[in-house]
Amino acid sequence: MLFEKLKDYGCEKVTFFYDKGTGLKSIIAIHDTTLGPAWGGTRLWNYRNEEEALIDVLRLSKGMTRKSSISGLDAGGAKAVIIAKPEQKTEALLRAHGRNVETFKGGFITGEDVGIGIEDAKIMHKETEHVAGISKEVGDPSPFTAHGVVCGIRACAGDVYGSSTLSSLKVAIQGVGHVGYYLAKELHKEGSELIVADIREELTKRVSQEFGATVVPIEEIYSVDCDIFAPCALGAIINDETIPKLKCTIVAGSANNQLEENRHGRILHDKGIRYAPDYVINAGGLIAIYMEAKHSTPEEGIKKVEEIGEKIETIIAVSKENNEPTYEIANRLADERISDKKKELETSRKA
Ligand code: NAD
Repeated sequence: MLFEKLKDYGCEKVTFFYDKGTGLKSIIAIHDTTLGPAWGGTRLWNYRNEEEALIDVLRLSKGMTRKSSISGLDAGGAKAVIIAKPEQKTEALLRAHGRNVETFKGGFITGEDVGIGIEDAKIMHKETEHVAGISKEVGDPSPFTAHGVVCGIRACAGDVYGSSTLSSLKVAIQGVGHVGYYLAKELHKEGSELIVADIREELTKRVSQEFGATVVPIEEIYSVDCDIFAPCALGAIINDETIPKLKCTIVAGSANNQLEENRHGRILHDKGIRYAPDYVINAGGLIAIYMEAKHSTPEEGIKKVEEIGEKIETIIAVSKENNEPTYEIANRLADERISDKKKELETSRKA
């Protein structure tokens, strides 16, 4: 059953680690390295059981492969999960994880994710060079992710409303944490009207005070009258229960795995709601960190993040031409780049 799962997700390599000294339990999934070394953050989460952790790491690593591919990076996809409660996160545990990352000798490059902040990543870095996103310049990837989301929103607005100007638009943001806050900030600067919801009152208060956002209860964010729904909190929020509530014409936000099931992407398409595929629109943070690691200038990094807008435009154009949901186009484009590279490598091996 275990190997069947690995086969289903098409992972190249999955390694389970146990460290006797610290009690570290972790899984590193290297999904695909056709395009280059595999990039993916380390998540620390108190999983209910090992199977849940395994499914999460496999699913996330596959998403990273597609994100790197569609973003035009010479990088593959991977992910690491540490099975632990937040209070079990010690320097010794993080260093043990760093030593495990080092065993891939640069084939796996990691960084922060849920449960792992920049300071934690810096501790891992004491044991391995292969940690990205810890510099002063890029450090927190959230502003870059938010900037990419704005570029994606512009592309969707250009298609739906015939203008990429955001000043007349009403945007409902679910979750004003790291990315949601910077998204609200950029949109406010553009003159958009904001409606926000978050389970943390202090965060909604902040965006209300700073950007004049209207705050609504968390269950109301789906049904508010708006042009754009920007999910920036949880996954699986586009589902049978929420779709009938939506009054927007565009769904474009940073959350990972927004569609509960692929068929929900089809339902949005059939209803005429433009959906910006999550791993395309939320790639800004990864792009910025990758570009920095490649010694690009900050300007080159921003330029590459802004290409997200063009990618979304292309995806929408093909979606309209073929009458296919946008997520299907994104998956196809991402997978095609990898299979083309595989063919190229195969040909050069034979030559
Ligand atoms: P975060 O934890 O800082 O923010 C998420 C916010 O959502 C929190 O403020 C939380 O209180 C709120 N929230 C939780 N449940 C909610 C609910 N039911 N209703 C409304 N709000 C709720 O995380 P983040 O770094 O801002 O990331 C947001 C999303 O974007 C996540 O899905 C993440 O995986 C994804 N993402 C983030 C980045 C990045 O650069 N940080 C990059 C790519 C993808």
